[in-house]
Amino acid sequence: MEKLIVTVAPTGTITTRAQTPYVPITPKEIAQEVYHSWKKGASIAHIHVREEDGTPSMDVNLYQETMERIKDKCDILISLTTAGKLYMELEERLAVCDLAPDFASLNAGPLNFGEVPFQNSQDTMRKIASRMNEFKVKPEIEIFELGMLGNAQKIINEGLIPAPFHYQFVLGAPGGTPATPKNLLHMLDHLPENSTWGVVAFSNQIPLQAIAISQGGHVRVGMEDHIYYRPGELAKSNADFVERIVNLSNELGREVASPEEARKILTLPVRDGQLADHM
Ligand code: ZN
Repeated sequence: MEKLIVTVAPTGTITTRAQTPYVPITPKEIAQEVYHSWKKGASIAHIHVREEDGTPSMDVNLYQETMERIKDKCDILISLTTAGKLYMELEERLAVCDLAPDFASLNAGPLNFGEVPFQNSQDTMRKIASRMNEFKVKPEIEIFELGMLGNAQKIINEGLIPAPFHYQFVLGAPGGTPATPKNLLHMLDHLPENSTWGVVAFSNQIPLQAIAISQGGHVRVGMEDHIYYRPGELAKSNADFVERIVNLSNELGREVASPEEARKILTLPVRDGQLADHM
């Protein structure tokens, strides 16, 4: 089995300071949390940014500043969201791809995210995937329910996502598939060939994370998805979640990948100036 890749998602769109004082908001705070998480074993940082008052943002300058601050501190791989606001224009979603992060999220279909319709038409997916291709950004194909695998397959068949594919199963999100072991295992039965995969669980985290670790998947943790370390106890740092996964993985006998190892496992595209053997 390949080593485990741990992604940290420190901020997200939904989590507020009213819910937890520990969620990082500014580029400086986000970079600091990512750095602590990298020290504990995270090899990918999935980034959303906020305005100063905490409002979710797609401001490309904030994404750029956050990326630069992270890169100044460590070699963690960077994934930018293409869905950093509840309501957004396509052009805002495309613009983050131009920053050429290692990855960006590709939402594989629409969802009623609570009261908010989260629009991801087939054509939106096509345009976002094309822009990622242009900048050699690897899509993290986010799957909130089984039908989304078919939406993604259409885009793959059109030649817009190069193999191998990386799927992120997001369970327990409002309007999405509930976070149960049975649901995750059922989705895995439908995983396309030539793919790697990870799990994001909004609830029931540890059982689903243990399945991912034991079944060759990868794991995302962080305050984007959950804010409690234990029931009733807020996590004080995203790094605490990372540390717990690393410990769990070690107990289950699976080693954890460094960023350079993650780059190879997920076969990131080679960019100009990068050596081919860094694939
Ligand atoms: Zn996200």
